[in-house]
Amino acid sequence: MRVLLVGGGGREHALALGLAGDPAVEALFAAPGNPGIAAVAQLREVTPTDPAAVAALAVEVAADLVVIGPEAPLVAGVADAVRAKGIAVFGPSAEAARLEGSKTFAKDVMTAAAVPTARAYTCEDAAAVARALDEFGAPYVVKDDGLAAGKGVVVTDDRAEAERHAAECGRVVIEEYLSGPEVSLFVVTDGEAAVPLLPAQDFKRIGDGDTGPNTGGMGAYTPLPWAPPGLVDDVMRDVVHPTLAELRRRGTPFAGLLYVGLAITPSGPRVIEFNARFGDPETQVVLALLETPLGGLLHAAATGTLGAHPPLRWRDGAAVTVVVAAEGYPAGPRTGDVITGADRAGIIHAGTRRDADGTLRSAGGRVLCGTATGPDLAAARDAAYELVREVELVGSHHRTDIASAAVDGRVTIPG
Ligand code: AMP
Repeated sequence: MRVLLVGGGGREHALALGLAGDPAVEALFAAPGNPGIAAVAQLREVTPTDPAAVAALAVEVAADLVVIGPEAPLVAGVADAVRAKGIAVFGPSAEAARLEGSKTFAKDVMTAAAVPTARAYTCEDAAAVARALDEFGAPYVVKDDGLAAGKGVVVTDDRAEAERHAAECGRVVIEEYLSGPEVSLFVVTDGEAAVPLLPAQDFKRIGDGDTGPNTGGMGAYTPLPWAPPGLVDDVMRDVVHPTLAELRRRGTPFAGLLYVGLAITPSGPRVIEFNARFGDPETQVVLALLETPLGGLLHAAATGTLGAHPPLRWRDGAAVTVVVAAEGYPAGPRTGDVITGADRAGIIHAGTRRDADGTLRSAGGRVLCGTATGPDLAAARDAAYELVREVELVGSHHRTDIASAAVDGRVTIPG
């Protein structure tokens, strides 16, 4: 199988490692890729959000499967353009990707499918915003309606800040606050059959103890020792299958990766958000434990044959990833600085570039992450931090508490 992977962040580096490790994958191309991916794939130039360009590249490299990593190409219709060339693609149509691209659309689908989620209003002016904030009270949850790479959400007790964010965004979704630990559940689907991966937890806030502004994600771990028994089965029954059925009913089946972001509240799991692609950095830990060959799994989802795919196999133990961010991230990351100590197994590249002379430099806010497995969560965490300690990048920072609450048995479900 010849595979073209679209994207160039940490998630795509993790996907590239998984695909390269599948004996059925005889050639792997990545566009645009990154210096980490370059070790396992041939890199090609492309604008990932240009449907015609990606489709032409897929034809040129004679791809049997195109795997689309990020959300922006999906929302732009890249999967549709590749499929129109008769090439199998892992990633939903632009119509189905609206599950991520529009919070209002996602809420509409959830309501129609009776999926448990926060009550919400879509608001377009200050008066509607004020009414919704009054109704739900603090903490206030205000979400930009469009794609914002996980950064368009403000959760705050400060009414003025909530109103300011709403005014800046224009159209917003304001919703009830959900309390409880968060879970990311990735589901591989061909639109009908659906296979859950291991649930993971990520860390959205920049600072230790979940303080400071939201980011793209500062670390992750899997599995979740504190998860209620039956959690995945319940979410498949109450969330995933009803959502997939509703999208089929609308004539826009969702095939690809359905990312279910949940809060485990006192009244059970509630959906915080859907995404239409693998999450970053949870992908790094989930795929680190997946033993089943990745290419075959994604190809089955892309060709409507997932129902016949054998059950997934997982490695024992746990996986942890710790993100190293550039100085100034998330507000205004500083780039272009030299990175040393990063050329080793377990370092996943996210925002890096390499000079012609081989020097590695920072090129984004989340620069790289140290990903490690171990016989248990504590061992995996210690190994991930060991990797991160070897990396030198001026001004960089990382959270020091990734997976610690889970290791210490401090994650509790309220109520
Ligand atoms: P989203 O982009 O919708 O995933 O939101 C980003 C982050 O904001 C989530 O991971 C949560 O930490 C937080 N968040 C979003 N919606 C809610 C909610 N209704 N209640 C509590 N926290 C939320």
